[in-house]
Amino acid sequence: MKAFELYDAATVQDAVSMLSKFGPAAKVVAGGSDLVAGVMKDWIHGKGMPYPEKLIDVTTIPEMVGIKLASDSATIGAATTLSAIAESPQMQKGWRVLTDSLFSVASPEIRNLGTLGGNINQRPRCWFFRGEKFSCYKKGGDFCFAVTGDNRYNAIIGGELCYIVHPSDAATALLALNASATIAGTGGTRTVQFDNYFTGPREDVLRENILKPDEVMVNVTIPRLAPNTKTAWTKLKFRQVYDFALVSVAVVATQENGVWKDGRVVLGGVAPVPYRAKVVEQALAGKNIKENAKAAAAAIKTVARPMSANAYKVDVATALIEKTLLDAIA
Ligand SMILES: Cc1cc2nc3c(=O)[nH]c(=O)nc-3n(C[C@H](O)[C@H](O)[C@H](O)COP(=O)(O)OP(=O)(O)OC[C@H]3O[C@@H](n4cnc5c(N)ncnc54)[C@H](O)[C@@H]3O)c2cc1C
Ligand code: SF4
Repeated sequence: MKAFELYDAATVQDAVSMLSKFGPAAKVVAGGSDLVAGVMKDWIHGKGMPYPEKLIDVTTIPEMVGIKLASDSATIGAATTLSAIAESPQMQKGWRVLTDSLFSVASPEIRNLGTLGGNINQRPRCWFFRGEKFSCYKKGGDFCFAVTGDNRYNAIIGGELCYIVHPSDAATALLALNASATIAGTGGTRTVQFDNYFTGPREDVLRENILKPDEVMVNVTIPRLAPNTKTAWTKLKFRQVYDFALVSVAVVATQENGVWKDGRVVLGGVAPVPYRAKVVEQALAGKNIKENAKAAAAAIKTVARPMSANAYKVDVATALIEKTLLDAIA
């Protein structure tokens, strides 16, 4: 790995100023478990992905660490570790689908180091992207190796140009919880719903979200659940030890006497962004969840476009959606 300079930011403004001053050579770093121990260690770079020379540490910014609870929401600093969130009794009580998703991330060691902002903004795991020798679209090259190569773990929905699946378990749960992110940059601070945070390859194949190069994710706010809301999380992995999702499902269902009134069904591991399965939600609207879970889950097949080696994921997604809906109301 090449040498790099490390700067400790004292405030959010400090981090933003350094990002702006250093330009494309600088990147935010938190736990470093993906950026330093993955991307930089493995020399992942290309024409559209310069190798970072200066890292701005945001874990040194007090405002970005910790959980603040309010009567209507929880706000979590983006530099809070995944372990601190998952192990918080208040978070487990109020937002179990998030804490369950975080306990399914990697290993205890990585959760102790990795932060919420780092998890949401980590780079994809497509093995061609992670291979130094493959200059694919996502690194600024002119080919997608997953189209003709081994695509067993790639997208079954929404792939176009690039067929990554979004790797973050936290992002899947946060989209189901209708969370939002506070972002700071040279242009000021803005709040973005997770519905609008992630971007697909057609918008810009070089990135996975709306963060600009001089912006920092400061915190994430999650509203409290409406009364009569049930949640559940399921994640299927290839290995039983730490692994990324083959398919994951987060359900947040507001129901009355077992009838779906409102809610979200979000899938991880299937699309370049955490995927809100509106076809499933629509199939449940106004209906008894238990009686209609199987048929509603099968609606995912109408939007799936599998590649040559990953049609199995369509069946897995269908089964896991049904299971997670039933778990939520059990
Ligand atoms: C073996 C292994 C298994 C894993 N398994 C899983 C898994 O099952 N599920 C899962 O979800 N993840 C998994 N991960 C990924 C892991 O969760 C991430 O590496 C970790 O959460 C990243 O957090 P970090 O603080 O170390 O991020 P860093 O490595 O510091 O940063 C990651 C990226 O986010 C950006 N970033 C970080 N913080 C901010 C911020 N506040 N604002 C803007 N940008 C920011 C950085 O610039 C960088 O591009 C695994 C990783 C490994 C190594
Ligand atoms: S799926 Fe995306 S990241 Fe993977 S090889 Fe194709 S362009 Fe690259």
